[in-house]
Amino acid sequence: MTGTLYLVPTPIGNLGDLTDRARETLAAADFIAAEDTRVSLRLLNHLGLKKPLVSYHQHNRAESGPRILRRLQAGETCALVTDAGTPAISDPGEDLVALCAEAGVPVCALAGPCAAVTALAVSGLPTGRFAFEGFLPATGRERRERLAALAAEPRTMVFYEAPHRLLRTLEDLAAAFGEDRPAALCRELTKLHEEVLRLPLGQALAQFREQLPRGEFVLVVAGAPAAAAPQATLAEGAERVRQLMARGLRRKEAVRQAAEELGLPKNALYDAALD
Ligand code: SAM
Repeated sequence: MTGTLYLVPTPIGNLGDLTDRARETLAAADFIAAEDTRVSLRLLNHLGLKKPLVSYHQHNRAESGPRILRRLQAGETCALVTDAGTPAISDPGEDLVALCAEAGVPVCALAGPCAAVTALAVSGLPTGRFAFEGFLPATGRERRERLAALAAEPRTMVFYEAPHRLLRTLEDLAAAFGEDRPAALCRELTKLHEEVLRLPLGQALAQFREQLPRGEFVLVVAGAPAAAAPQATLAEGAERVRQLMARGLRRKEAVRQAAEELGLPKNALYDAALD
């Protein structure tokens, strides 16, 4: 019988965030596929678990992925962990899941820590609709085009960034979205020095140019404000008054309703409708 690939989220800073189910799944797996075996070995030692580890990361996924798949197809159970957070979210787990899905191997995702969701929740920005953008393309045309495409995005946006690229990304976000765009800069989430700076992009940039804080960041940026509705003309208003009167409304009532619908001044619209 085919085995199952378990996606096991690991803490993004606070070891207390590892769930009982994550611990049990790691303990029960035949082997563990890890992004960095040294990082995961520390976690396993902390949990008092001894398990065979195989490496699965960005640079060996083309060979390691099919090897893991063959073991799953032979009936073994694999727990996939990455350095921190939920496997397959902006890390190489994505490809292994696709490989298993294509081959019909069951994949089971445990719920647990994820930097993007933690940052969004604490951001203070609207969370009803959001766009997860992960890492922006590093440089060049692709980066410029992505930023230009996002400038009018109305949903709250969530970005990951490596510490050494943070300032550059803030500069590009402020240039593309405007310095007044509200943002939440979420640093060292769940760790001792956790901090959330809720500032417009321009102010964040000025502050970070003075002194770049250390640590890991998620940038949460407010969506673009809704574009103001184009102003209707008095001629369009007068046409609307005529339509309403044709439906039986008296002129005064039709003017009042059309003025309200189209945001036009009542007196001017009354005169325009008489002409
Ligand atoms: N799969 C992971 C997850 O579910 O969160 C994300 C992996 S991605 C390679 C790493 C990025 O996550 C970092 O560059 C940073 O933007 C963000 N990150 C991870 N841990 C964080 C923390 N404790 N505080 C803030 N950001 C964090």
